[in-house]
Amino acid sequence: MRIVMLGPPGAGKGTQAVRIAESVGVPHVATGDMLREAVAAGTKLGRQAQEIMSRGDLVPDDLVIAMLMERISRDDAMAGFILDGFPRTVGQAEALEDRMGTDGIDHVVSLDVPEDELVERMLSRGRSDDTEDTVRNRLVVYRAQTEPLVGYFSGRGILRSIDGYQTPDGVFDTIMAAVGVGV
Ligand code: AMP
Repeated sequence: MRIVMLGPPGAGKGTQAVRIAESVGVPHVATGDMLREAVAAGTKLGRQAQEIMSRGDLVPDDLVIAMLMERISRDDAMAGFILDGFPRTVGQAEALEDRMGTDGIDHVVSLDVPEDELVERMLSRGRSDDTEDTVRNRLVVYRAQTEPLVGYFSGRGILRSIDGYQTPDGVFDTIMAAVGVGV
């Protein structure tokens, strides 16, 4: 089972991805978490990504694609994965499709949440890149660079649009029904 979580920052992708990964029994692969680990470890990638992330901009495609491809080539990802925060650009989506084949992704779960609720959720998480300016920039970046992926995946017939403005349990049950996994 290979699933992509799509949606604006603050939509609940991470929360849901963890639960789906547990239910399905595949790894949760979150590029934001991987990049934060690289920053904390002070690796070359981390040094390249740090300032970009603190502004809420996107880390360049070549760096993120290389990191993601290495991760999904590991043994534990052979049976599938839940991607959280990747792809975020059309270039990343094309790289994923090149790697997995055109029917390599089973479902793209798109979480829809009203904009005011997103800002409120992000500001309440208290992450270091969740200051008001950065939060607003992340939403602008999402609309410009990531939202076009809704059309991209819809055209491939794998988009599952989910109302993300429900309780976490409600969202989870809706996703499980949409991807055909009983819980
Ligand atoms: P997230 O935890 O998914 O909100 O990601 C936190 C930050 O990491 C983002 O604001 C970006 O700066 C960076 N990031 C995470 N995933 C990607 C990606 N697929 N492409 C580019 N930058 C990313």
